[in-house]
Amino acid sequence: MLRFAPSPTGDMHIGNLRVAIFNYIVAKQRNERFIIRIEDTDKERNIEGKDREILEILERFSISYDDVVYQSANFAFHQNFAAKLLQDHKAFACFCTPEDLEKERQKAIEQKRAYRYSGKCEEIGLEDAKKRNEPFVVRIKKPNEPIVFEDIIKGELQFNPDEIDSFIILRADNTPTYNFACAIDDMLYDISLIIRGEDHLSNTPKQIHIRKSLGYDKEISYAHLPIILNKDGKKMSKRDNASSVKWLLDEGFLPQAIANYLILLGNKTPKEIFTLQEAIAWFDLKNVSKASAKFDLDKLRFINRAHLQRLSPEEIAKLLNIHPSLGGLAKLYLEEASTLKELKSKIDAMFGTKEYGEFGEEALILKNIILDMEIPESFDAFKKELMERSGLKGKRFFKPLRLLLTGAQHGPEISEIYKYLKDYIKKVVQ
Ligand code: GLU
Repeated sequence: MLRFAPSPTGDMHIGNLRVAIFNYIVAKQRNERFIIRIEDTDKERNIEGKDREILEILERFSISYDDVVYQSANFAFHQNFAAKLLQDHKAFACFCTPEDLEKERQKAIEQKRAYRYSGKCEEIGLEDAKKRNEPFVVRIKKPNEPIVFEDIIKGELQFNPDEIDSFIILRADNTPTYNFACAIDDMLYDISLIIRGEDHLSNTPKQIHIRKSLGYDKEISYAHLPIILNKDGKKMSKRDNASSVKWLLDEGFLPQAIANYLILLGNKTPKEIFTLQEAIAWFDLKNVSKASAKFDLDKLRFINRAHLQRLSPEEIAKLLNIHPSLGGLAKLYLEEASTLKELKSKIDAMFGTKEYGEFGEEALILKNIILDMEIPESFDAFKKELMERSGLKGKRFFKPLRLLLTGAQHGPEISEIYKYLKDYIKKVVQ
């Protein structure tokens, strides 16, 4: 079974979406189940409604799944497994106060060494701990040997016991820490492969250590995806608009184009333009580059245009919320527009109020003739009649005509536009 484990703590980041897409593809390839696990253990950071938003986004991207589970529903399991580790002396109760720990942390900084837990409470037996009747956290004892694992993208990785340290698994309020809940749930749901961002790399040995301490010896494979950088080479953060899936969708990027781009990014693929379903046939985690990938909005625009070109006029019209017969007109504008938002603004400019600049007088003459005439099928006949009746020609004819019909100074050939616009032309010039 594979899983996508988002935290409902903010807008979905493209890095998370990439993780969801890769998990979905691999689950389909292996014919394994795929679940969404909402990691809602951090009550303070959870944002009401974000879980639904995540599921809606997955739906828009056609990422189907078998089940949705909430991590907080498993608290009783997390607590029971912590109790078992205490019983087995693999974990211990720690009474160190936040102030004690902060002092030790400061000391480590002064001595220019990495902070490690002192081990102070390790020898307190479970019975003695219970008798103290004071709040305590539960720490798992650090491993005796290095934790080694093979990452599908990064190769073999090794972490020493000191790097793992005796870390907290259960807080004083009895809630599990992220690493503990995650490690237990991956075990409970029989996860076979974990694909996630490389920001979790240092958590992996901790999670492996937790399961090993519980005697769970089934091996889980890992693939940690390199982070996505912005154009300045820094990690894409909330400050980069394009890091938000919602922003990209609002800007008029198609889900299929965003998915295409996220699969292409830092990857070796047999082609450049493809759908998510097509990628299932050839996607291979082994082709994903170890190096971090740079997000390029221009490349995404290029891919988006290619996907818009693949759509039928009717499909485009539906997405733009315009009459189906105007879909072909919108497609003409793919010469210069790359997103739904840009296409929509071209169409809106045709039907909206217009500015004529120095051609105000000519535009008014043409408008009155158009409102008065019988609209012919062919552009040539239309042009001929307009020219004859207005007496205008050359620049003083074509410039105001374009402005009158499109609301813009430049664009596709007027004769092409006319094919689609003729049925609306009286409305457009008004
Ligand atoms: N909840 C974590 C995140 O959103 C994912 C953890 C995981 O995939 O194991 O980054």
